[in-house]
Amino acid sequence: MTSYINHSIFNVVILSLLFVFNQEYNIIDINGSLVFFIFFMIGTFIVNPDMDTKSKSSNILGIFSVPYRRFFRHRGMSHHWMYGIITRIIYFTILMIILGSIILFVLKGEQIFNNNNIYYVYDIIIQYLSDNKNNVIIAYNGLFISNLLHIVLDKIT
Ligand SMILES: [Zn+2]
Repeated sequence: MTSYINHSIFNVVILSLLFVFNQEYNIIDINGSLVFFIFFMIGTFIVNPDMDTKSKSSNILGIFSVPYRRFFRHRGMSHHWMYGIITRIIYFTILMIILGSIILFVLKGEQIFNNNNIYYVYDIIIQYLSDNKNNVIIAYNGLFISNLLHIVLDKIT
């Protein structure tokens, strides 16, 4: 099993190559590069396929990684090149809706998990995503590519 540190080094090396490539061919601008960098780092160090087991990334997430580890066995769906990252995005979206509802409950004293709260948080997320389509696509690619590299390295080592 590839260690956390080797996964991290591998990803950062490839990221450097991607930046050199982008410098040469100007595929995304400086703002897009920053978004890509941030999400690639999140995908490398925290939101990676090893969230499905006791790993450094699940340690960083603490209690928030527990349901994910319960749902997905190690190297199962979480390590699928296409579905893995989608399971994590759905997982964090649900987590945000739950946390958002709790925050609304604390701030506004509204009944927790009533339909209004859930739709309200859901609307904020959807509105944000549609206002920032380009950055969302770039962010997704940052997560997707960093996770794909993890899976590739797991396979070849
Ligand atoms: Zn792995």
